Amino acid sequence: MAATAPNDLSNWWMPFSDNRYFKANPRLLAAAKDMHYTTADGRRVLDGTAGLWCVNAGHGREPIVRAIQEQAATLDFAPTFQLGHPLAFQLAARVAGIMPDGLDRVFFTNSGSESVDTALKIALAYWRARGQGQRTRLIGRERGYHGVGFGGISVGGIVTNRRAFGPGLTGVDHLPHTHDPARNAFSRGQPAHGADLADRLEAIIALHGADTIAAVIVEPLAGSTGVLVPPVGYLERLRAITAHHGILLIFDEVISGCGRLGAATAAERFGVTPDLICLAKGLTNAAVPMGAVAVSRHVHDAIVDAPGDAPGIELFHGYTYSAHALACAAGIATLDLYASEGLFARARGLEDVWADALHGLKGLPHVIDIRNFGLVAGIELSPRPDAPGARGQDIFRSMFDAGLLIRVTGDIIALSPPLIISTDQIGEMVDRLAQGLRQLA
Ligand code: PMP
Repeated sequence: MAATAPNDLSNWWMPFSDNRYFKANPRLLAAAKDMHYTTADGRRVLDGTAGLWCVNAGHGREPIVRAIQEQAATLDFAPTFQLGHPLAFQLAARVAGIMPDGLDRVFFTNSGSESVDTALKIALAYWRARGQGQRTRLIGRERGYHGVGFGGISVGGIVTNRRAFGPGLTGVDHLPHTHDPARNAFSRGQPAHGADLADRLEAIIALHGADTIAAVIVEPLAGSTGVLVPPVGYLERLRAITAHHGILLIFDEVISGCGRLGAATAAERFGVTPDLICLAKGLTNAAVPMGAVAVSRHVHDAIVDAPGDAPGIELFHGYTYSAHALACAAGIATLDLYASEGLFARARGLEDVWADALHGLKGLPHVIDIRNFGLVAGIELSPRPDAPGARGQDIFRSMFDAGLLIRVTGDIIALSPPLIISTDQIGEMVDRLAQGLRQLA
């Protein structure tokens, strides 16, 4: 099918975009297969970001396409309030099978934002069910990205995502972020310094009292704010402190889950088990929108076994499209593909090649930090003093025009290719980036 450019760009209000700039300079994607996009004008673009950190098995994978098509022809939609359908149970079991032990109750959503808000609501409902409804405070972290729902922007730590939208949730505190370039620049893998930053949680607890706090939510590895890898020992300390005070710990693994870090979850990779895990993105290889929250059994049972607010329903929460049949079909086919191709182990196996290639960019103009873990990396550029973020935009656009899709946050480049990337393609990606960085100078 010939790709054609749309002739009217005026109606679509694009998310997280400079709409007027885009309409004057459209960059359009028309097709995708495996490691590449094809633009509307027929150019191939190497996908250095797995779409938006989500197409972990690569684009247009046949078994996923087929599963969606077959499901659409069999059962397109089934309500899941008070009714079930086979694929929902199957996918829930499959998800539980790759979660840490005990996190085997699975609530389906349609996005990362919904997973976060669902997890926060479950945490609050849990305490109420246990007769401790005064535990309502939530603790997030600076530079945390937890989607764009009111819960997510409240516990999130990105002021621009919050500023225009009023006060958000009350009773929210934030831990300090873990980015410390003075001590950790150019770390390979986990940075050595910063585990002590978790101790700030003790100060927040001392200020408010543990019996007012419902949950702490963090991305184990912060993705969207520039790939901040947790310092050695940091997550362990968060877990120890939350466990000591009986506070729930939520890992937002919307990016770090489904193989990105060389294991099913960051929890597995770092050996730290939270009480709830938020998933989305890679769960369906992004072929159909879907998210999920994996919940530990004791949290689930406390809510389900408690006398409810009304007969017949334990948790007054859910979405029309929770466990959507097409998404379930895509999810099962995706998890099958991850398993049959061993993609999580593949990501782990490529980690050293990846790190070697990326750290070879040290010394290029403007590069002030490089960090990596699993198959993700952040390359931080010095901001232009007169225009922070401009360098990031310049490199994003020039790389796209040169045939490489990267992602930028301010002046930080984020890379997170599909887990099927070859070592040659890693080399190609880094060579192009090097060229782009030199031209930027
Ligand atoms: N949490 C994290 C950690 C994310 O990275 C994202 C998306 N980048 C979200 C939540 C929100 O996901 P969505 O855009 O699907 O709502």
